[in-house]
Amino acid sequence: MEIKAFQDVIRRTYLEKDRARGTPATFLWLIEEVGELATALREGTKEDLEGEFADVFAWLMTLANLSDIDMEKAVAKYATGCSGCGKIPCACQGEKP
Ligand SMILES: [Mg+2]
Ligand SMILES: [Zn+2]
Repeated sequence: MEIKAFQDVIRRTYLEKDRARGTPATFLWLIEEVGELATALREGTKEDLEGEFADVFAWLMTLANLSDIDMEKAVAKYATGCSGCGKIPCACQGEKP
């Protein structure tokens, strides 16, 4: 499934509830899910990890919907190589840009 199609499913499934909750509370949900991912990385099974990665990704899509951000378009700068040097693998010195 492509990112755009996934984001659209999340939009059609949750947008009404997401709008009622609002961006600040939705952001907190995302961070809570990031915390669950941290726990799974430390002590979870592969199944736990899959679940938590999915939760974080879905909540990120939800937050993007509330901010009217097309994630497929947003990540395009990473789709053809490093967003800094343009190379695969990245040839930047130090941390990725
Ligand atoms: Mg979770
Ligand atoms: Zn680079």
